[in-house]
Amino acid sequence: MANKQFDVLVIGGGPGGYVAAIRAAQLGLSTACIERDSYADLKGEVRLGGTCLNVGCIPSKALLQSSELYDQAGHSFVMHGIGLDSLKIDIGTMIRRKDNIVTQLTAGIRGLFKKNKVTLLPGHGRFVGRDDDRWQVEVVGKDGGEIVEAKNVVVATGSRPRHLDGIPVDNKIVCDNVGALSLDAVPKRLGVIGAGVIGLELGSVWKRLGADVTVLEALPDFLAAADAAVAKEAWKTFTQKQGLKIQLDARIGKVTQGKKGRHTQVTVEYECGDASHVLECDRLIVSVGRIANTDGLGAENVDLALDERGRVTVDAHCQTNQPGIWAVGDVVRGAMLAHKGMEEGVMVAERIAGQAGHVNYEAIPWVIYTHPEIAWVGKTEAQLRAAGIDFRVGQIPFAANGRALGQGDTTGFVRMYADTATDRVLGVHVIGNNASELIAEAVVAMEFGAASEDIARICHAHPTLSEVMHEAALAVDKRPLHF
Ligand code: FAD
Ligand code: AMP
Repeated sequence: MANKQFDVLVIGGGPGGYVAAIRAAQLGLSTACIERDSYADLKGEVRLGGTCLNVGCIPSKALLQSSELYDQAGHSFVMHGIGLDSLKIDIGTMIRRKDNIVTQLTAGIRGLFKKNKVTLLPGHGRFVGRDDDRWQVEVVGKDGGEIVEAKNVVVATGSRPRHLDGIPVDNKIVCDNVGALSLDAVPKRLGVIGAGVIGLELGSVWKRLGADVTVLEALPDFLAAADAAVAKEAWKTFTQKQGLKIQLDARIGKVTQGKKGRHTQVTVEYECGDASHVLECDRLIVSVGRIANTDGLGAENVDLALDERGRVTVDAHCQTNQPGIWAVGDVVRGAMLAHKGMEEGVMVAERIAGQAGHVNYEAIPWVIYTHPEIAWVGKTEAQLRAAGIDFRVGQIPFAANGRALGQGDTTGFVRMYADTATDRVLGVHVIGNNASELIAEAVVAMEFGAASEDIARICHAHPTLSEVMHEAALAVDKRPLHF
């Protein structure tokens, strides 16, 4: 029997892969997507959506919302005159709600595949060779293997959590993101290794629900990727106002498990400077970065180039060293963000179809969904200084905004950098309530090459948090109206 053939074969059904597949199909290309059972449902059926929908962006945001409401009920309602006799949280209900959202969304992607006529090939995909102008990929599923051929293959195999030597993850006591999103009770003491985006978000969930959380971070700087002013404000809020314990410059040593009464206890030995410390906790989250999924991909069978970190090597258009093989998302260089992968998926599908798909890597927003939220686009102050660019800066606190006051949350600010000579917006940094939504305006501005004066001359609805963006733009020119 002849092998199945497609115009486009996508390996991996996460945000990078499923979007590439849908866009390719929209453009009239016959398209299939291979997805293995990393996130199979109870019946063993493959779930689409990858890390993002199953054990990443979506479930973490669901739990962050539940824990935020609990925290507000415990701490913020009182200022509105709302009192509660008793406050409790049913973790089972909270986790089931999260699971239902995941089920709904992953099923939704299946529906989108049907609607767009994308063929789902359940199984593990592996390059095996080339026949004429077609790449050959073996798909090994529950019922055995088959060879599928396509002129264009998009590798979108994503990433998995990095673990540390000597710290085995069982996702019950010692967890990566998978276990940390499904704890069955609030741990009394929670340890987190790694103060990156994932560690801070997951640490926040359980902190708000009552856990005593200690985060151990290897680097001496907190949130080194963020703007220094934002990182400083975040540090102050997390450690002083919220009581999150964060130990920087920590070198992790031995991690052991033992019994304390009937409970398992984890002991983390670590060093800081010359001093040795011990952290005892009931649950430990390891969130020290992610590794590209290229093992078992058969890259060697088609001489597909990988970089020193095992990622597929690509150019600015996500083309690999092999004609017709593309790679997008977490498996390639750049930010490990779902929306970055999706944009790359669209770009690649359009280029396969002969169009001029493009990703503007300068205008990809970053968001950390802690409270306050942190979001930015473009350059940080340190990056501007390092590049020798002359800039003007405008910074306005949410405390000067009527809507923020009405909402009872005035933490943080908007900080905008613009080129001194051209006034072009170079970077916008937000720490505060709804930063994740507010940053969209800055992304649009940067995509359109806007000047800070353009934002300053746009009418912003009153009273809204977006007025702080408006005022920050005015402040670049030293003429804020409300500060
Ligand atoms: P993935 O989502 O990892 O998908 C890859 C898919 O490929 C998987 O389904 C896997 O099973 C499949 N696969 C791998 N190898 C093969 C193979 N050989 N054959 C067949 N199938 C294969 N990003 C954001 O932008 N915003 C957030 O708020 C956010 N929150 C996050 C929270 C957490 C806790 C985590 C862990 C991540 C978060 N991320 C967030 C990152 C985001 O999830 C990733 O950037 C995104 O999922 C990457 O998409 P991808 O398609 O490249 O890979
Ligand atoms: P991210 O890159 O956002 O996923 O964050 C991972 C975080 O873990 C970064 O802040 C790293 O500096 C930190 N990290 C990496 N390795 C270790 C380690 N061995 N101990 C503590 N923190 C680590």
